[in-house]
Amino acid sequence: MLKGKTALVTGSTSGIGLGIAKALAAQGANMVLNGFGDVDGPKAEVAALGVQVAYHGADMSKPDEIAAMMAYAAEQFGRVDILVNNAGIQHVARVENFPPERWDAIIAINLSSAFHATRLALPAMQAAGWGRIINVASVHGLVASAEKAAYVAAKHGVVGLTKVTALENATSGVTCNAICPGWVLTPLVQKQVDAKAVALGLSNDQAKKLLLGEKEPSLQFTTPEELGALAVFFCSPAGNNVRGVAWNMDGGWAAQ
Ligand code: NAD
Repeated sequence: MLKGKTALVTGSTSGIGLGIAKALAAQGANMVLNGFGDVDGPKAEVAALGVQVAYHGADMSKPDEIAAMMAYAAEQFGRVDILVNNAGIQHVARVENFPPERWDAIIAINLSSAFHATRLALPAMQAAGWGRIINVASVHGLVASAEKAAYVAAKHGVVGLTKVTALENATSGVTCNAICPGWVLTPLVQKQVDAKAVALGLSNDQAKKLLLGEKEPSLQFTTPEELGALAVFFCSPAGNNVRGVAWNMDGGWAAQ
């Protein structure tokens, strides 16, 4: 379905981003990966799906590096048809204890990076008459949790950015939508499981059950594969008139 198209997924060396990159590559999209840590493993996993894979190590907190990444993608593949703004970090603390530098980093990586990548990707999509921008927000783009001020503010911001981008392009073939996962067992969440296990003297399994039980009625983690399938739907012809939604895949979290 996506043969001949190019996708760029930020923060795709791990977790949800890698899951979405693999789902889009399985549909034939050539891929630009981004993110820190091991690069060769994720690159090989995506290349095994029979597409061309490139990588750019831009730090998504830095607008000039984001611009360099977008220029690199255009140079490698002509243009970016599908942009997935996914890179994100977390920090947990009450507002009065929240380190200002952690606030700045979360707003930069989880929110401003999506603005910069989107503004740089739009002109080529508009000229081509087709494009997909998918913002990985969170259920925390819809509801709040204590001790996540920066994350919740950034994700609510991402949902707002999604709606504005969708509206401004509503009469074109460029759509913009957000995905709002509940708990997904990636390194980002494993850290929160570990913190709970240590704080309460629980096993890893007990801490996972407690985490799910507090928020997610299905008592199940959403998987990167499920989120990848939703991204593929947004890119399909059936997604042509899906514009500005914040689609939660959260086991009923936001339904409560
Ligand atoms: P993860 O830690 O597994 O992956 C994060 C990715 O972002 C990695 O590839 C990492 O290298 C990259 N990254 C981090 N900082 C970066 C930077 N400055 N520049 C470039 N890349 C950077 O986490 P994940 O759980 O897969 O999270 C992916 C996205 O999904 C995030 O936006 C997160 O907020 C969102 N999300 C996660 C969950 C969850 O339960 N895991 C739920 C809702 C939303």
